[in-house]
Amino acid sequence: MGPPDAILGVTEAFKADTNPKKMNLGVGAYRDDANKPFVLPSVRKAEEIIASKKLDKEYLGITGDAQFTKLAAELAYGRDSEPLKAGMISTAQSISGTGALRIGGAFLGRFFQGAGGKKIYIPSPSWGNHTPIFKDSGLDVAHYRYFDKATNGLDFAGMREDLNKIPSGSVVLFHACAHNPTGVDPTPDQWAEISRIAKQKNFTPFFDMAYQGFASGDTVKDAFAVRHFVADGHRILLSQSFSKNMGLYGERVGLFSVISDSADEAKRVDSQVKILIRPLYSNPPLSGPRIVKEILGNAELSAQWEKEVKLMADRIIDMRAQLRGHLEDTFRSKKSWSHVTSQIGMFCYSGLTPDQVDRIRSEFSVYLTRDGRISIAGITSSNVEYLAKAIHEVTK
Ligand code: PMP
Repeated sequence: MGPPDAILGVTEAFKADTNPKKMNLGVGAYRDDANKPFVLPSVRKAEEIIASKKLDKEYLGITGDAQFTKLAAELAYGRDSEPLKAGMISTAQSISGTGALRIGGAFLGRFFQGAGGKKIYIPSPSWGNHTPIFKDSGLDVAHYRYFDKATNGLDFAGMREDLNKIPSGSVVLFHACAHNPTGVDPTPDQWAEISRIAKQKNFTPFFDMAYQGFASGDTVKDAFAVRHFVADGHRILLSQSFSKNMGLYGERVGLFSVISDSADEAKRVDSQVKILIRPLYSNPPLSGPRIVKEILGNAELSAQWEKEVKLMADRIIDMRAQLRGHLEDTFRSKKSWSHVTSQIGMFCYSGLTPDQVDRIRSEFSVYLTRDGRISIAGITSSNVEYLAKAIHEVTK
């Protein structure tokens, strides 16, 4: 018998709890202020348009829907991106972000040989699935420092020191924005310095962009790190997901892309990516990319979508402010809670210890992962005070 998944296991325990005040702050899926799953109105509209077209159900090609891959790449790199215009970027529609990371892992597993072997460096901590994804792709996984427990912020000095120690020519993974699980991102200046170090050390950066738009509410702003690295001439690998920013979780739609030195090399990379994908799942699903391209390819719908992304991001920012406000003003907690509002995106890395997580679960029916990560999207204006009380009780 294998162990249950660390994140999905929390939901199972939550479901079995009969306390009417129970809260599920485990899984990273957006909920509206009534704690209901939210299907974006722009997505509903796109689905109506698609249904009216009575499209067929034929297989897509191995790397997916070409119009989707073009629009998704433009969203990440920018329409005026030089390597994109020059045909230097190979793209493959993926089974969401997880699938994009897995294709990237398989590509590196087959073709990459660094000084330290077939190895990828990821931040500590990182999304729990990164390690198994890359190990299953045949890579070793090593870490660089990222989070400072003392400040609940970025350990930039530690990160810089570790990046400088990593062998030249290595593959290094970065979270493009809204780092999961910490909610802590480098500033634009820090990204610029990270890019300089990566250049000096000839790293191949692999960006995981699962939350474009979800951090700041602005898809362009959230693409800063990716576009900055590309402008600096890095040949990056990129994983994109439409799970969060379009709320298309179960549709499984994303994009893997990689920049080559020339359009000719990009064609050869594309051929090899196809050879990798064919025995994995032959070709990707049809419905998700139809929704995405209907939205991104239609100026009116895409403007509406951008507003809806901002609405989701703003609700999360508001919940952070309310949670901190209750901890500091209503319950007069003596602890520092500034990180609740300085962190960004779906998650707050609360600093709760595993023991405190166990207590808040048994005494208050509040469910979160044992690393103290809170999915802010699971908080509403009607239960934020209850959560603050629970956190206060177990931390005082
Ligand atoms: N990367 C990170 C950092 C994530 O947080 C997630 C979702 N939890 C993913 C990738 C992949 O999600 P999906 O496969 O739904 O796109």
